[in-house]
Amino acid sequence: MIPASFTPILATALVVAQWVGSMGLERLNRSHTEATRGKVPEAFQETVSEATHAKSIDYTLAKSRFADLSGAVEAAVLLMALWSGVFPMLREAWVGSGVGGVWRDALWLFGVGMLLSVPSIPLEWWAQFRLEARFGFNTTTVGTWILDRVKGMILAAVLGLPLLALILKLVDWMGGAWWIWAWATLLGFQILILFLAPVWIMPLFNKFTPLPEGSLRDRLLRLGEKTGFNARTIQVMDGSKRSRHANAFFTGFGRFRKIVLYDTLISQLSEEELEAVLAHEIGHHRRRHIPQRLAWSSVTSLAGFWVVGWLAARPGFAGAFGFGAEAGVAPALLLFGLLSSPVLFWFSPLGNLWSRRHEYEADAYAKAAVGSAIPLMGALRKLSEKNLANLTPHPWYSTFHYSHPTLVEREAALRS
Ligand SMILES: [Zn+2]
Repeated sequence: MIPASFTPILATALVVAQWVGSMGLERLNRSHTEATRGKVPEAFQETVSEATHAKSIDYTLAKSRFADLSGAVEAAVLLMALWSGVFPMLREAWVGSGVGGVWRDALWLFGVGMLLSVPSIPLEWWAQFRLEARFGFNTTTVGTWILDRVKGMILAAVLGLPLLALILKLVDWMGGAWWIWAWATLLGFQILILFLAPVWIMPLFNKFTPLPEGSLRDRLLRLGEKTGFNARTIQVMDGSKRSRHANAFFTGFGRFRKIVLYDTLISQLSEEELEAVLAHEIGHHRRRHIPQRLAWSSVTSLAGFWVVGWLAARPGFAGAFGFGAEAGVAPALLLFGLLSSPVLFWFSPLGNLWSRRHEYEADAYAKAAVGSAIPLMGALRKLSEKNLANLTPHPWYSTFHYSHPTLVEREAALRS
């Protein structure tokens, strides 16, 4: 058992370790990428121009320096949150406000969450209107950007506050086993969101229109039939409202399932290439990657709730950060939330390894479904070029940060 006085030191060490680790990875990746300037990787010498390659290096370096800045801000905010005693103080003040019961703690947690997100607002603004804009990606207006944040906040309040209150209420109802019930509640909530997101949440941010009749639609529906993937509709999302980056995905389950293509994707790729991208997405579905991920995330969140339950039963833990013993479960939830990212950072290579394996499987599925690797390779090349993707990240960097294999790796796998 760790003595309570050691807890804040351990927490600080975790925050600092993540900060130093991320900075080290950024630095490694910058020098590794810079060293390839003027040397387009061999496999791409015919398709990637010297100028595009140079631009992708500049984009990588700019994003990396920005990551250093945000990492420093994030670490400073976390350390401030842990050491300053501001949150216990706010809680004391809030306890005297007259709001009672679980809503008091739910509102406190929600307010603290909002406060913690304030320092990242100017960073997000800079990322969008300076960094992304400098490389020609930004298409967001300031109005849309502000509205997005307001909508996000309202949504977080409408969905998050009742959920928080319910979880805290479970502590009253269920006693020591509350964390199992809280986990089950969260799981039910997440599944509900999976159904609601495509119908109610995503349309708040983007416009979805059915893919118009024509050769592309026929081709994609034929692919759906051939692969046994019966989506009701194929929809086009106005991704160009915010960015020139392109994407495709499917959301929802069963009857609510829909395939979504960004308008930016449609304008960048040929019909064969779009078919291959859709085949890749169907590959994720056919190989059951989504239920696997859901199952895994529910196992990790069960472990997370067990930890919170364990910590909450030890008042010395929250006490070490200035919370009184009567504060109950809420401070343990907050502290767990603050410290989970510095801990999970070190496990990200495992998650990425798994995710990359899924990408290879989906690529292989797409190759088989359209009968050739050429259209998918064409699509991946175009997307990589348009997104100024780094063709040669440092291997350690991609281990920690890349959920998808690099273009070089995917082409090698597709050729084999
Ligand atoms: Zn994929």
